[in-house]
Amino acid sequence: MADNIQSNGRDEPQKQRVLLEVKNLVKHFPVRSGLFQRVTDWVQAVDDVSFHIYEGETLGLVGESGCGKTTVGRTILNLVPATSGSVVFDDQNLFDMNAKQLKKMRRDMQIIFQDPYSSLDPRMPVGESIAEGLRIHTDKTAQERYDVVIEMLSRVGMRADHARRYPHEFSGGQRQRIGIARALSLRPKFIVCDEPVSALDVSIQAQVLNILRELQKDFGLTYLFIAHNLSVVEHFSDRVGVMYLGKMVEMSSQSDLYADPLHPYTQALMSAIPVPDPTLKRQRIILEGDVPSPLNPPSGCRFHTRCPLAFDKCAQEEPPFKDYGGEHYAACWLLETGEVGASKLTQAKLAG
Ligand code: SF4
Repeated sequence: MADNIQSNGRDEPQKQRVLLEVKNLVKHFPVRSGLFQRVTDWVQAVDDVSFHIYEGETLGLVGESGCGKTTVGRTILNLVPATSGSVVFDDQNLFDMNAKQLKKMRRDMQIIFQDPYSSLDPRMPVGESIAEGLRIHTDKTAQERYDVVIEMLSRVGMRADHARRYPHEFSGGQRQRIGIARALSLRPKFIVCDEPVSALDVSIQAQVLNILRELQKDFGLTYLFIAHNLSVVEHFSDRVGVMYLGKMVEMSSQSDLYADPLHPYTQALMSAIPVPDPTLKRQRIILEGDVPSPLNPPSGCRFHTRCPLAFDKCAQEEPPFKDYGGEHYAACWLLETGEVGASKLTQAKLAG
């Protein structure tokens, strides 16, 4: 399927300007219990995550289910309030804004959800769903809103008469196209794509991704692309961040990450990607044990309970998230030795 996805068509992502900057983002969810629903614990969904996204690029965010990537996307958009940290979009701190300023900013920041069916109102014709944002955020007339709806439907490969139909009359792929049309109707600058193809058949995934790619070129969009399929992220992203248990453990350009992953967790994920050539064999790194609970994450490096290379220091101190050259960031104590990359160490250990 990945072969059918158009390449991003840019030899070099545009790196002139940072559109979005996330600094020390924290999101902890309270756990309530008992008669009075007192807070008894906290789920540490996202813990001290920092990164930036350049204007016009696609930043992929990957990790196992429950690693916090979706929470990062929703917290950035202020759909769930952050516990602490800051998000600067277009030179303005979103967390300092009042309701009126936030409403204005929402025009520029949209989301495409994983499940298009549950994100569309089943009692509303899809044309009205697409026009809803225009009605709330603009003073366009009904005719002007209708014109935008028809244009957006056409941009995602659908017909004008589809505007009168209801969500249940469409296939999953068509519903996701409608979700894209709705996100685009306000002509945003930035879109969080939250697992936009995970619920679709493999044959449909490439179509939807190609639409997203074409729209990015035509409208100059910037994407945060959240997914767990590493092959899709590889073909769709300019840079990629890897999350584990609420922490960013590695981030770099797509080419560097897939050619030379530095963090043992990234290497384990990469080793699970199927190789299309049956004559080639990749050494699979099997991680032992389950992902620990975010209610009580491990001390030090959160990956130490499953890492095949863990040593004493890993359980005691948290490794710094550092640039190891060419904007290739990672958080692993092995990289601090400066003698040999973690990938070589992993291979050596597995071979031994
Ligand atoms: Fe593994 Fe230690 Fe590196 Fe964490 S810091 S990834 S436990 S070697």
